[in-house]
Amino acid sequence: MDTLNITNGDIILEFSYLLSALFFVVGLKLLSSPDSARRGNLWAAAGMLLAMIATMILHRDSNGGTIQAGNLIIILVAIAFGGVIGAVIARKIKMTAMPQLVSFFNATGGAASALVALIEFSNPDNQSALVTLLGLVIGSIAFSGSMIAYGKLNGNIKDIFSKLMTYINLLILLGLVIMVVVLLTSDMPLESKQLLVYVLLAVSLIYGVSFVMPIGGADMPVVISLLNSFTGIAAAMAGFIYHNQAMILGGIFVGAAGMILTILMCKAMNRSLINVVIGAFGGGGAAVDREKGTVKEVSATDAAVMLNYSSKVVIVPGYGLAVAQAQHICSEMAQLLEDNGVEVKYAIHPVAGRMPGHMNVLLAEADVPYDKLVEMDEINPEMPKTDVAVVIGANDVVNPAALDDPSSPIYGMPIIKVHEAKNVIVMKRGMGKGYAAIENYLFYADNTRMFFGSAKDSLQKLVNEIKAL
Ligand code: NDP
Repeated sequence: MDTLNITNGDIILEFSYLLSALFFVVGLKLLSSPDSARRGNLWAAAGMLLAMIATMILHRDSNGGTIQAGNLIIILVAIAFGGVIGAVIARKIKMTAMPQLVSFFNATGGAASALVALIEFSNPDNQSALVTLLGLVIGSIAFSGSMIAYGKLNGNIKDIFSKLMTYINLLILLGLVIMVVVLLTSDMPLESKQLLVYVLLAVSLIYGVSFVMPIGGADMPVVISLLNSFTGIAAAMAGFIYHNQAMILGGIFVGAAGMILTILMCKAMNRSLINVVIGAFGGGGAAVDREKGTVKEVSATDAAVMLNYSSKVVIVPGYGLAVAQAQHICSEMAQLLEDNGVEVKYAIHPVAGRMPGHMNVLLAEADVPYDKLVEMDEINPEMPKTDVAVVIGANDVVNPAALDDPSSPIYGMPIIKVHEAKNVIVMKRGMGKGYAAIENYLFYADNTRMFFGSAKDSLQKLVNEIKAL
């Protein structure tokens, strides 16, 4: 834009972008607590709406012209179309399918940024070739990687663990770097460059697939937040192409938040990011020979007595609690026990459920006070002093194979050490496996009692029994 010819409209546009950035910051701040997260979303959405309206009315191209009426109509139709589809999907989606939806929406963000880069690469006014190519590569990887993550969370795509994939991935990555360097430095004709850009797009899409394909089990949450961060970075790149501050800032916020979450998840799982990206969890060592033991069931009455006459109970929620939507009845049971003088805490594993923070969101929905939620590292030392650990719909996050079976695909993942509690009650429907699809010897341990049934029904029975005591 010609800086010598700044109009009032330009000043208002820049000011609107600044204001929307402030809205994003307030939104992010409010998102940091479940109590205020809903308001945070509204603030951030309002910031985005302001940036969009201001751009449509006040944006000027390099010749100083505003958006033509015809283009404006196309933009509005596209927004209405996408908005209606998004709203319908978001309204209809079941809470348990939320992780898949987040992956899907993330994929669309990556695709949008990649398409912007693809179109703008051939635009003679575009002065930022490196940023454009990076936007294309990162956006495409975010798109295809998120679609694979969507399939995995949905259960349609299985992991492919193979060391060979690691080498193939490194080769593809090298190929991508070489293509970007050639596109930036070679003086080949524009047509050849355009052709190579399409090859770059195709290879980036393939890389997204082959990069996420071998990552499974306990590493999925890390990959999901990494892909989230990629989408933010790709959007920021698109913002650089258009010199649009709102896009740059919005993208950087998402990119930085996603990266911080990725690092936090890696720390919580005792893993380095390189380790997550390059190699699958565990699985390489010798198998442990175990006696399986027998499964011992407990009745609702006995379980209620055990819980009610304990001094300390730790509840370990997992994916099954979310599936059963049993958070409210779980909170009611905890409250009853507390009223009867039992100390109750919730142990939160960083990858419990199917999305980062899943258990926190779920329990906040049931008004469980935040100070009752205890992180894995803090609760584990308390386990030997715990009378009853109640595992509700959790499996992988309490599987001791992660600690002592080098052949297990989850070996090395930190777990909540419920097996160290005096007694363990496991509430699940049957002997079904968890996300990592492996056997859990906790269910056969001497101090474990199984309470079979869907979590909501089982908890309701417990509540009734405790009330009757
Ligand atoms: P798991 O997936 O290991 O186990 C859930 C258990 O819940 C199952 O064994 C199932 O057993 C039981 N269950 C299912 N429905 C019900 C129900 N209605 N009532 C009671 N129980 C039920 O869950 P965890 O939370 O322990 O572990 C999460 C796993 O997901 C980890 O492996 C993690 O790495 C992975 N993951 C996590 C993500 C995240 O961001 N948090 C993202 C992607 C993957 P049964 O069928 O017998 O009832």
